[in-house]
This record gives sequence, structure tokens and C-alpha cells, in this order.
Amino acid sequence: TSDRNNSMGVNLANDKALQALAEQVNATGEKLLAGNQLATPLVPGAVPSNAFLPISNPADHRQIVGQWQPADSATVEKAMVNAVAAQPAWDRTPPASRAAILEHAADLLEARTAEYIALCVKEAGKTIPDSVAEVREAVDFLRYYAGQLRTSFNPEPLPGPTGESNQLQLHGRGVFVCISPWNFPLAIYIGQIAAALAAGNAVIAKPAEQTNLVGYRATQLLHEAGIPAAVLQFLPGDGATVGAALTADPRVAGVAFTGSTDTARAINRALAARDSAIGVLIAETGGQNAFIADSSALPEQLVKDAISSAFTSAGQRCSASRVLFVQDDIADKVMTMLAGAMDELKIGDPGLLSTDIGPVIDADALKLLEDHAARMNNEARLIKQTECPEAAAHGTYFGPRAWELHSLDQLHKEIFGPALHVIRWKADELDQVIDAITASGYGLTLGIHSRIDETVDRIASRARVGNVYVNRNQIGAVVGVQPFGGQGLSGTGPKAGGPHYLPRFATEKAITINT
Ligand code: NAD
Repeated sequence: TSDRNNSMGVNLANDKALQALAEQVNATGEKLLAGNQLATPLVPGAVPSNAFLPISNPADHRQIVGQWQPADSATVEKAMVNAVAAQPAWDRTPPASRAAILEHAADLLEARTAEYIALCVKEAGKTIPDSVAEVREAVDFLRYYAGQLRTSFNPEPLPGPTGESNQLQLHGRGVFVCISPWNFPLAIYIGQIAAALAAGNAVIAKPAEQTNLVGYRATQLLHEAGIPAAVLQFLPGDGATVGAALTADPRVAGVAFTGSTDTARAINRALAARDSAIGVLIAETGGQNAFIADSSALPEQLVKDAISSAFTSAGQRCSASRVLFVQDDIADKVMTMLAGAMDELKIGDPGLLSTDIGPVIDADALKLLEDHAARMNNEARLIKQTECPEAAAHGTYFGPRAWELHSLDQLHKEIFGPALHVIRWKADELDQVIDAITASGYGLTLGIHSRIDETVDRIASRARVGNVYVNRNQIGAVVGVQPFGGQGLSGTGPKAGGPHYLPRFATEKAITINT
């Protein structure tokens, strides 16, 4: 949208500009591969002792992008002690000063766009356009929460009787743990941290195991912008060890988590089991996102939007379409066109501008997709399987696929990759379709293609989801424009990039003075 295009100093209005950026990104990427990039814990006073592990490029596992060092238990403890000690002074820093630091970080990020795009391409296997969107979203989060901090975090005078002055203040809750996924290693990593810091918390950030370099370099940038080292600490490590140790710690006031529904449940249990203050959990999780099209939908537009929603970022978006419900009058035509359009997708090196679909993140993700494909090939009708080029043999690639199912029950849980499922419905079955989507328990995004206002209203008002997109694709929420997040199995809310997110990281204090 125009917001995204306006949010960065880079003008990508024409192919030449994009080509120039791609050349810059690839030159930076080569330098990255040539140097030995390290991601170590950033914890003042700690001397981490764990061995380094290699970071390989998902597009070609023979390429080693760098190495990372998981935090040991003494480093986790040191980070906690540092954070507890540093938080009060950070909370006392005036909101305008905290906002200025976040805005400075946004400026630095814009100035170094090519470097962060290269990191996303090489470590996460994201295409260049996807990586551009990552940097933009991270910049937008920094500016959005900084702006909100400037306007809504100053003490608010309240009415009261003569002789009494009342005031409502917002403060940080204490130490916040931010746990992020690999699929938006920059945008979500920075978005969580920016909100937690803005509200006056000290932050311990644990990135996903697959994307430590991006997290490390993003943390360094925030420090350079002025966030004190003990107020934001970087703590890489396995979810099951470092993540679990952090969320079980009684000194933690809250956790901002984005990832799978199962992990959110584990964190919820860990927070509840502590014999300490009740911890806050802000969880953004998975989806089983549907797209509903009726017979008034324009097939060309529908297929274009379904392809973009299901396969952009190799389908590794929480918002991605997993199921396309098509009214039977147009179903055959849509499936034929879908298969044709899938033939056009270019699968390959994410560093090439011509590439539409890059690799999936790692061998575990690929195995889950291959197992799913084997089951679908038995239980459903294959509409299309795209083949990967030979050059993809050294990476973790999964050619986009589509199957026709007879029921949503055939999908047991979220399938995280370029796999689309199509289900036909008859004119009198619309309510059953909506009920089946609700019964899945997930409630993240929903796409609707219909030219009939009543149908759109009926679906949009009945559906229990966080984000509804009508007659367009269903991915790419923009900060401050489409606040993003779901309900049910898809998350707790409040929505990231929306007005209610930041206050959730804060605690309220009312002060009454008898004058
Ligand atoms: P994941 O749950 O496996 O991992 C996410 C993070 O949690 C990682 O940093 C991991 O190390 C950590 N973790 C794992 N076990 C932990 C534990 N016991 N305690 C504490 N931390 C732990 O998810 P993933 O596979 O990395 O990410 C993909 C998932 O994220 C998908 O389900 C996707 O839908 C979801 N997602 C949701 C949103 C959203 O906004 N709703 C955005 C992006 C991704």
C-alpha cells in the first residue's frame, strides 16, 4: 500500500531502482558470506561459554552465513539480574526521550536497508521484495510506537473534588521477555521489543534459533540508537532451554510471544506455574486461514489474490491462505486457472529479483510439508504440483502445491508452507462454511471475494477472525493501517501495530494528592 511505499527513504517506484537495490543487497550478501558473522549473547558482564553453531543459508546449505552461540544458564541468570537492576531508571526516562531513541533507530535502519535485506535473504531465505517489506515494517513499528508514546504516555490529570489532585500514570511492568519467530526475523523481533521498551520495560529478547544473526544485528542497532545495554539484552538459545528458563523465572513481569499455538500454551503454563506475581502474556500464534469466494467473484482477480496469499514468502506467513472455499458454479474454472497460474511461479534463489518462491526455513519444516503432501496425495485430489529447479537441490525447497479436499476436517492443524487446499461449496452452504472455519478454533485472517455486499456483510460479521480482507489478497497488514492479530487459537490480542497494543505492556498507577 502507499503507506509502505512512503515509509522508507528507498524509492522502489521503478524496476531500475529495485534492480539497483538488489545489486547492493547481493554485494552486501557476498561480504556477509566472506566474513565470519557471529551472533553472541549481548549481556553486560557475562562470559558465555557454549560452543558456536553454524548458520547455513536455507537456499543452499553448503553456504555458511555465520555462527551463533547459545546462551548458557549463567548468562541467562546474569541477563535477568541486569534487567531487574536497569528497569527503574529506564522507566523514569521521560517518554519523549524514549521515543526519540526509537525514532533514531528507525532512521538508522532506513539508512542501512541493504544490509538488513541481505541478512534476511541469506539467513532466512526470504526474497528481496519480502525482505524490503520486513525492513519497512520494522521501521514502521519503531515510528508507530514512538508516536504513541509521545501522545499517550504523559501523566493524565483526572477530575476530583476541590483540594484533591488526581493523576493517572503509565509505567513499565518490569522485565519483559520477547520471544519471536524466524518468519519475520526483523519486523516481529523489532516490533515486540519497540513496544516493550516504549512502555518502560527492560527487555530480554530471544530470537528464533534459525535467525540469530538478524536478531543480533538488530539489537546492536538499537543499542547504537541509544537503548542502554542492560535495558535491552539479546539472549539466543533453544526455545526448550533458554526460552523455557526465561518464562519460568519469577522476576519476569510479562512475555510477548509470536510463534506456534503449542508454544504459546507452554508459555502460558510456565507463567501460571510460578509462585510469583501474575505474568502477562501477549501471544500471536498460528492460523488456518480461509478465503471464501462466491459465484460473483472475478476468477482472474481471485486466482491472482489466492496465489499471492498462499504462496508469497513460500507460504510461511501466519496470515497466509490455507483453504480456498469456492462456490461450485465457478470452482472448475478457478481450479484450472489456479493450476495454470502456479505453472508461472518462479522457484529459486531468493537473491534473484525474478524469484517468486524461495526455500522453506529448514529441513524440519520441509519434512513436515513432505509428510503432509504424502497424506494429501492419498486423501485428496492433486490440482497442481510445481517442480523445483535442479539448482534448488542444495536448499530446503518445497514446490507450491494445491489439492481439492471435501472437508476442512481433513486438515488437522496449521500447515506452514506453500500448500493450498480448495473446497467447493453450494449456494445454500455459506453458513456451514463459516461455521466450519470457526470450528477449526483458529481466527487469524479471512479473505472474501464477492461482488454482493450482503454476502460480504454476512461473512464478515459472522466470522470470528482478527483480520478480514475483501476483494484483495489476505496478507501484508500495514502498521497503523491494518492492526494485526487474531483470536481463539490464533492469539490473545491486542493487535500489533494498533492503538491497544502498547498499553498492554504498561501498568497503571493512579496518584491522589490531598492539596
Ligand atoms: P515456534 O513456536 O516453534 O517458535 C517461536 C519461538 O518460540 C522461537 O523463538 C522458539 O525458540 C521459542 N520457543 C519454542 N519453545 C519454547 C518454550 N517452551 N518456551 C519459550 N519459548 C519457546 O514457532 P515457529 O515455528 O518458529 O514460527 C512459526 C509459527 O509462528 C507459525 O505457527 C506461525 O503461524 C506463527 N506466527 C504467528 C504470527 C502472528 O502474528 N500471529 C506471526 C508470525 C508467525
